[in-house]
Amino acid sequence: MSKIYSAIVGDNIRVYLGETTDLVKTAVSMHHTSAVSTEALSRTLTATSLLGKLLKNKQDILTLKVTGTNQIKTILATTNYSGHVKGYISNVNADIPYRSNTNKISDAIGLGGNVTIIRDFGLKEPYVGISHMISAEIDDDIAFYFKHSEQQPTALKLGTVVEEELVCAGGILIQPMPDLSASEKAAYDNASEAISDFMDRLYGKQTAEEIIQSYFPELPVMMTGEFDVAFTCDCSEDRISRALMTVGKEELKEIISVDQQAELKCHFCNTVYHFTKKDLEDMVRALEA
Ligand SMILES: [Zn+2]
Repeated sequence: MSKIYSAIVGDNIRVYLGETTDLVKTAVSMHHTSAVSTEALSRTLTATSLLGKLLKNKQDILTLKVTGTNQIKTILATTNYSGHVKGYISNVNADIPYRSNTNKISDAIGLGGNVTIIRDFGLKEPYVGISHMISAEIDDDIAFYFKHSEQQPTALKLGTVVEEELVCAGGILIQPMPDLSASEKAAYDNASEAISDFMDRLYGKQTAEEIIQSYFPELPVMMTGEFDVAFTCDCSEDRISRALMTVGKEELKEIISVDQQAELKCHFCNTVYHFTKKDLEDMVRALEA
């Protein structure tokens, strides 16, 4: 089971550390991603899991969208407060040479795109924030987004370890709170640099507390929570049929006369839903009622 651990460092620094290997393995088994597509999807899913812990209420939903300009045009992941995460990548077969020792994905994503963070608090309109990418490595881009769009300094490191196959995935998010002391500010700045070795420590079987303490040698670390996260899709025949009905009755009639049936695939989990002619006729009747 994948987990997110939360901690408070000193009095004013919050840390979320994610060990997301199982979650990412589930995604890889559904989407059959190439090496570089796996890394990109993993970073997006892990970031989404971490950001989900910043949600406040049970019904809140967070969506992270990475828009690229090269082989990978879209990566989208979404989570609710309870740690159910799902996501997809538009190109599962990106083949830009990927070296697992450098883990660079920016060539596959390309510069000139955006990161978008959508928070749905159940109000009339969701809160949508967007910023351009500075590195196309996803972690630096999200940190940049928080600093410039939400005036929230943020350090974020995401990654995987791949041997024959994916053996470890995770990430760490550090955010100072407003009343930071000078020594906490210095410690935060140091930690922001030090987290570049995060994946070595995570794969090296250090505990969450040991890893966080190693980045803040001078400050007390208080572990405050441990949360399960998993790749789970909430699609259903009912949900997909309602999505299909949004095309409208004329379009449905067209599908009935041309194809006599319809097949829709859930982007998140690749489940295929089949609708017969009778199903489609029922939808038209429901729309006419
Ligand atoms: Zn699904």
